Amino acid sequence: MTGIAAPGTKVAVTGAAGFIGSHLVEALLGRGCEVVGIDRRSLRSQTLARLHLGDVLDHPRFSWVEGDLTDLNLNEVVDGCMYVFHLAAVPGVRSSWTGFEDYIASNVVATERLLRACREAGTPKLVFASSSSVYGMVDTLSAENDVAMPVSPYGVTKLAGEQICLAYAKRPDSRLSVTALRYFTVYGPRQRPDMAIARILAAALTGEQYTIFGDGTERREFTYVDDVVEATIAAAGVDVPAAVINIGGGSSVSMIDVIGLAREVTGNPVPLTAVPAQPGDVRATAANLSMARLLLGYQPRTDLRTGMTRHAGWMRGLTPHLLRTYAPPPMITGPKEAT
Ligand code: NAD
Repeated sequence: MTGIAAPGTKVAVTGAAGFIGSHLVEALLGRGCEVVGIDRRSLRSQTLARLHLGDVLDHPRFSWVEGDLTDLNLNEVVDGCMYVFHLAAVPGVRSSWTGFEDYIASNVVATERLLRACREAGTPKLVFASSSSVYGMVDTLSAENDVAMPVSPYGVTKLAGEQICLAYAKRPDSRLSVTALRYFTVYGPRQRPDMAIARILAAALTGEQYTIFGDGTERREFTYVDDVVEATIAAAGVDVPAAVINIGGGSSVSMIDVIGLAREVTGNPVPLTAVPAQPGDVRATAANLSMARLLLGYQPRTDLRTGMTRHAGWMRGLTPHLLRTYAPPPMITGPKEAT
């Protein structure tokens, strides 16, 4: 932690133009770091990438590398970096049943390329964004030592990415330490348009239908993005060669309750269309946070009502055109959030 707090520390963030990555970039700049942001999204043509990074593009300590991790020269990218935060991935459970090649390339092959570059460059620390989806179907709090049994191709690729990170860290000759964080459903401003809370709030704000998968009793541990960013930065200071840590919001909430909260924080009803749960959807996620408390001193600070109020406030500030991208028309089947 002292290292990351030192002004001018050079760090790299992959997936910098994404939801969580763009928040992490802002927080690291705020701590005085020199930040290299890497993403394959084009800032010119992708409205979301520009929306996400618009405030930092001219920052004197921010530099931008546009390209795909599967073919960039990563040795050049990580050169001189003390910390590499690897958030780039193709997320989403449902679409992983059809677009698997890109999941493998971006979530596994790219991760191994990055690890090789870190090893060659002598990078001391990599923080990997893993996912609660590695756990699969569980009915109790998930702890890091539980057997991971993912039930979606996405979950399989996140577990593979995590394992290849740990394998590199555990090499007897390794100087690279890795901390893998298993994020539990992250929400807040800029949440991906395929994810539930963004879509529920957008439905409330536009009057479009929200397509709910299942009967609404499914539960998720929702984690506010600022808590995730704090934990991710703290993970850079974990002083063990290889660690896996859950990052959750502190409670597991049913989708019906989330919809009720959306009604409260927006003052509008949420028009609903219900369809059956999709392959790969799990009934519930819930995090055991003991390891996060022990190794990171982590305590989630933002409860769901507060977080959803901020998220809705951000959505109200979007142009009508952008807001509509978060409220796709009703679907019989559709994308389901990553967990
Ligand atoms: P996101 O899609 O908003 O961001 C991911 C970014 O990675 C995108 O900007 C994308 O362009 C980039 N990317 C993907 N493949 C790439 C490649 N091959 N080369 C370069 N860039 C590439 O997703 P997010 O929700 O911000 O998730 C960030 C990370 O956190 C991911 O690793 C995801 O698996 C993990 N995660 C997210 C959640 C969540 O609830 N959002 C939960 C668990 C884990």
